[in-house]
Amino acid sequence: MPNMTERLLNAIAHEMCHLATWIIDNTHQQPHGPVFKKWAAKCNRLLGKQGVFVSTTHSFEIDYKYAWTCSNPWCGIVYQRHSKCLSPQKHACSNCRSQLTQTKPVPKMKPFTPSDYQIYLKNNLKNVKRRFPGSPHKEAMSILAKEYRAHKSAVTDGDNSQMTLMLSTLSLQDSASI
Ligand SMILES: [Zn+2]
Ligand SMILES: [Zn+2]
Repeated sequence: MPNMTERLLNAIAHEMCHLATWIIDNTHQQPHGPVFKKWAAKCNRLLGKQGVFVSTTHSFEIDYKYAWTCSNPWCGIVYQRHSKCLSPQKHACSNCRSQLTQTKPVPKMKPFTPSDYQIYLKNNLKNVKRRFPGSPHKEAMSILAKEYRAHKSAVTDGDNSQMTLMLSTLSLQDSASI
């Protein structure tokens, strides 16, 4: 692995080859194509003794499959890995100990699915507040919780008949499509 200075010189030489390709040869296709290679070879011939090596890839742009970014905007270090070996639950930024966020591939967000209870709360909170005006929020919540339990046991009884209905609808659709 070349040291930092060598890497910097290599990168500058690489970029110079791009410039020569664009400006001297006026070639804009194939950024690392034959014209670029001609300049790279010239560089390596002339500067190889000084340790400069122009490769046709941007060695600093290794395409890692996974990346995690430090969530601290003042740090923002990106940790790149070929495998999913880091976990924000287990690992923190080694520079500032902040939380890491996976940024490549961006994890798919699990769609938020409210629980039955949350849906019930949403639909009935206003109702309870109306029925028990002036009751503190905490009390309204406990009334709702109680009512939800009663409602839930009623629904469970009804579940079977609902399922039968669904199944019969499905079989109707099946026979219709044949
Ligand atoms: Zn390049
Ligand atoms: Zn950090």
